Amino acid sequence: NVSLVWLRHDLRLCDNPALHDAAQQGAVVPVFVWDPDGEAPWQPGGAHRWWLHKSLQSLRSDLEAAGSRLILREGPAEQALLDCAESVGATHLHWNQRYEPTLAAQAQTVADALNAAGCTPVFHETQLLHDPEGVETTSGGPYHVYTPFWKKVTGHDLLRTDAPPLGAPDLSGTVPDAWPDSTSVHDLRLHPKHHDGTDWTGGLADTWTPGEAAAHERLQYTLNHVIADYETERDRPDHDGTSRLSPYLHHGEISPLQVWQAVTDWADANDAHEEAKPYLQELVWREFAYHMVHHYPTIPDETYRDKFKDFAWTDDAEALQRWQQGQTGYPIVDAGMRQLRETGWMHNRVRMIVGSFLTKDLLIHWYHGERWFWDHLVDGNLANNAMGWQWSAGSGADAQPFFRIFNPVSQGERHDPNGDYVRRWVPELRDLPTSDLHAPWEASTRTLRKAGITLGDTYPKPIVDHSQARDAAMAAYDEVR
Ligand code: FAD
Repeated sequence: NVSLVWLRHDLRLCDNPALHDAAQQGAVVPVFVWDPDGEAPWQPGGAHRWWLHKSLQSLRSDLEAAGSRLILREGPAEQALLDCAESVGATHLHWNQRYEPTLAAQAQTVADALNAAGCTPVFHETQLLHDPEGVETTSGGPYHVYTPFWKKVTGHDLLRTDAPPLGAPDLSGTVPDAWPDSTSVHDLRLHPKHHDGTDWTGGLADTWTPGEAAAHERLQYTLNHVIADYETERDRPDHDGTSRLSPYLHHGEISPLQVWQAVTDWADANDAHEEAKPYLQELVWREFAYHMVHHYPTIPDETYRDKFKDFAWTDDAEALQRWQQGQTGYPIVDAGMRQLRETGWMHNRVRMIVGSFLTKDLLIHWYHGERWFWDHLVDGNLANNAMGWQWSAGSGADAQPFFRIFNPVSQGERHDPNGDYVRRWVPELRDLPTSDLHAPWEASTRTLRKAGITLGDTYPKPIVDHSQARDAAMAAYDEVR
């Protein structure tokens, strides 16, 4: 009996139900297929590809250390998997279910093709803590508001009946008589380059260590140093106060059940359920986003609230580019956008600030922000990214109302009070006194000169006047209200 295990966003050995189940049936052939067009129109972005390259290298060596292998193929996924199945006489294809609409559609194509060829598809659950079809309001149907969703899922049965999380499967007796052909990680050509051929990934490599072992190290760090003060620290982009587990969760190097269980065990051991709650609530925001995209698969592409379909977004390519490059003249916005380009990640508070700035101060459609994030985030996923953008624009299900427009100066002063975050990412402002750092245009000529800054030259003048932009946004909103 030979089973294929189709690995996708579950690049780990521990708590991997597909791998675990297949290993109990006999021989196992783990396969990863690089099939970006199978995920169209949301082909994986550049930062995702960089991470994936490293993650596959890590998974391959973990599988080899366990006595197995990782077979790598190029897509289309159904053809690659059919070919592997035929070459080893596989009777079953196991995989872990995905709820992103593009990935669910791809899996359906694969299931149909393999089924027709006599290889039985078997899918497993591990992406979420709760079944999107199983969490319903009292009148039936999905939740559209987070707080009742949180209340409902607390105390609700976890999706997986085998919780607590599974360990690594014993793969020693699962080697097939022959292995299918495999390409190398290098030959998948995942490593992204700029259009001009230069490599922009140095900052990613300096910031992150992809892979299952690193995911568990970060989880341990989170338990030791993050959870206890998470409620107050999570809004401080100048501190290391959040778990930074998002890319590991996105690539499935750790499962949400592993994180959930570790945090609840920590809370039990330390009698700290109140401290752990805000963190667990964030994991449930992730759940909520996936439940929404499962029930409303157009959310990544279309405005959720009808009235925003007629909103008068502006088409300003130059402003969009200045936002993307971190050259708006608003230090907290520029710091966030530069952190993103440099490291593939941005602090949540700053994601909200730059999201508000793009959609409300610049009146640019949230879709442009979503696409830019998609290409630059190591954690960019269709559920959280779409929800984050529609939340920022006010067009989402449980969104920040449009009329709540973040003031980038007071947000900077409140959440980066010493200016460490801005100084780190916008070094040309380093020598400004903190009192002027979040609004350099208000500094005196003398102060600017002393700090070596010429506005409009060494650092941009503000791209818009925030209070005028605010009025313009409210006028545009009045048109659709
Ligand atoms: P922590 O604060 O440590 O939270 C733990 C985990 O909870 C996160 O890893 C994540 O899985 C989940 N989580 C936390 N906040 C949220 C949230 N607001 N919504 C949904 N889940 C959350 N998150 C992504 O994972 N991928 C994205 O593509 C993404 N795009 C976003 C776009 C915008 C405009 C906004 C405002 C938010 C976006 N987020 C996204 C949500 C959030 O910013 C990140 O999950 C968080 O910053 C990741 O850092 P962390 O792991 O340290 O989070």
